[in-house]
Amino acid sequence: MRKRRGSLVVFHIAASNDLTGIKDSLIEIPRKSDSICPSNLNPADVDVCPEMRLMEELRTIPSGRISLQGNWENKYSEIDDLTHLRPLSTAAVLTCLKRRYAVDRFYTHAGNTLIAINPFKSMPHLYDERAIACHQQCKDVKKMAPHVFSVAATMYRALKRGVGTTAQSVIISGESGAGKTVSTRHVMKYLVTVAEKGQSSSRRSLGSRIEQRILSCNPILEAFGNAATARNRNSSRFGKYIQLHFDRCGAVGGASIQTYLLEKTRVVCRCADESNFHIFYQMLAGCDSATLKQLCLSASEETPTGGSTEFRIADTNRRCTELHLCTASQLLGVDASKLEGTFTHRTITASHSRRRSIFYKPCSVSEARDRLDCLSKVIYSRLFHWLVDFINSHLKGQHETDKTIGILDIYGFESFAVNSLEQLCINYANERLQQHFVTHFLRDLQEEYIREAIPWNFTEFVDNRPCLDLLECNPGLFALLNEECHLNRPSNSSVLSECIMSALGGSTSKVLGRPQRRSMDGPCFTVKHYASSVTYLVDGLVDKNKDNVPYELTELLRQSSNEFIGQLFAEETTEAPGRKKKTVLAKFKSSLDSLMVALNATQPHYIRCIKPNVLSQPSDFNGAFVLSQLEACGVLETVNICKQTFPSKILYEDFLQQYSVILRARRHGNIDQYCDANKENEMLIEPLEALYRKQLNLTPRRKSVTPKRKLRRRA
Ligand code: ATP
Ligand code: MG
Repeated sequence: MRKRRGSLVVFHIAASNDLTGIKDSLIEIPRKSDSICPSNLNPADVDVCPEMRLMEELRTIPSGRISLQGNWENKYSEIDDLTHLRPLSTAAVLTCLKRRYAVDRFYTHAGNTLIAINPFKSMPHLYDERAIACHQQCKDVKKMAPHVFSVAATMYRALKRGVGTTAQSVIISGESGAGKTVSTRHVMKYLVTVAEKGQSSSRRSLGSRIEQRILSCNPILEAFGNAATARNRNSSRFGKYIQLHFDRCGAVGGASIQTYLLEKTRVVCRCADESNFHIFYQMLAGCDSATLKQLCLSASEETPTGGSTEFRIADTNRRCTELHLCTASQLLGVDASKLEGTFTHRTITASHSRRRSIFYKPCSVSEARDRLDCLSKVIYSRLFHWLVDFINSHLKGQHETDKTIGILDIYGFESFAVNSLEQLCINYANERLQQHFVTHFLRDLQEEYIREAIPWNFTEFVDNRPCLDLLECNPGLFALLNEECHLNRPSNSSVLSECIMSALGGSTSKVLGRPQRRSMDGPCFTVKHYASSVTYLVDGLVDKNKDNVPYELTELLRQSSNEFIGQLFAEETTEAPGRKKKTVLAKFKSSLDSLMVALNATQPHYIRCIKPNVLSQPSDFNGAFVLSQLEACGVLETVNICKQTFPSKILYEDFLQQYSVILRARRHGNIDQYCDANKENEMLIEPLEALYRKQLNLTPRRKSVTPKRKLRRRA
């Protein structure tokens, strides 16, 4: 929200075209008892009120959307917005979503949030060109059935209107397999299509190149960054924030993609029933035999699941398997014996007086394997980042504008049998996004109503600030783990675990504790996240946080005879020994800080993706599973708050800018025609004139010259 110095900040108006109140009374249910189960209600209990007839007359809601006939169970499926439920209860929310899901209505509004339940079945007509055109042509998307396109349409219109905060963003959240990436694709497709359609044919041919590029970067990113996991056969193993830049006419001028924390350990290690990144299998399936031969691959190749076995290091002579070593060194463009040396020996540089001595210390088998894994991980992650930079360089627009729409598709909350640094980062990102929601919506909005003396019943909500403080403040978990990395001493998990508990997990801590039951091998601690409690294994946290890449390894690859490999390890990206290195947590936190700065400069929209069942099956709605997801993201609180708020909120000057056309029409005597077409706008005239007077600084004593009177006289 834009703040204005002094005077009243925001003007609230129940916009005449939003008949929320009328819709509410339509489905008002006489409350027999608080514990009533809505699904047991008798249709006869539903009060058919006079407002219904009024609404029908106004034709504000397309006929057929709300049926008065039929049984009550069916009526639930007609409710587009959970704020219309009376009484509002967990059971009512669940019943409503379930009934809608049963009749293929996968989208439901929860106030300012769109709930998207994954259909797990193909619904092409929901997302085809006709559906896009429908949303584009509809004068008021609020009157359309809830849809991912309606969120995209709302953002695009707000951006084109250029009133208030023009930069828009949509935060798409949900657990793994809930449908975030598919929703992201739909939002992008809608925006790119309408932006292209709106242009003249000459501009269109120019623009379509960039638009096509934007759409075609998704499959490439998904090939390199997605993998089949136990929960989703196309799981995104990185987060992304895509920003589309528009010019003054609403055409796409360019785009940029920011990625977050690629799960690079997947290259060398993953669970038994999970796969490596898609690109490996696509390469084996798609390359012709000559290319496969050149890469020393065979089509039946399988990437190992549990750590490297390409190289084998014999305990006795610490020699690498000759064949694999030769192949790897040949492909990497480096000398085979030097490559072997980087795995089998650690280089130690010691400086005394003016002399520098270099020692080579033999590595143990497990150290050598770690170094080999490190090589695979660092090559893959640098390749991925190179690819993102390459894509960005081809999407870059000529001019940066403040007309942007950002789409955030970030990994959902994770809690596995064993949780490590990857889960800590992912869950921290989700905490930050939840805090963004809590700050912008649950807290600030309520405080604003109270500040403006608008009658308000404060809704209690769960603020996840204590958990964020535990993670990111100093003293805090990240600070402690980072400190441990900088001390550069062999880390002892038991000691570190005790240290964490004594520094941060005192008896007063509500967010950090010891695990209630022993679920992992080794010391661990439990963090109470907003979604659920997660137990993290201490072992491995420090090493993963250091993410050390041996200097001699990057140096060797920098000198590769393969130009591309050399480019990936160019000087500026390598880090010399002795320099204090930024840890994974520190880097991740600063990238999230930048993301939050970007999001805070936008008007946010929220899509909460929900997975209907654990097994990703169509037509299966598991109430308890859905409820746990709704509770985790505070949907009930959201609905409660949205139920009380005015549907529209707009600054004085923006309101005048947007609607003054009505006054002009009235002044020129065209108001009747104008209002015929826009019946609802009639109700805007009173507040509009009041504002107009205020704008002109007219005092009550000068009533005789108010524009309203002038207009009346003229009329
Ligand atoms: P992750 O966090 O693991 O990346 P995600 O939330 O991005 O998960 P998606 O990959 O978007 O999940 O969706 C998982 C699967 O669900 C898709 O591969 C697809 O089969 C199905 N799906 C998602 N959305 C839809 C939809 N709107 N219509 C039909 N199927 C869908
Ligand atoms: Mg995804």
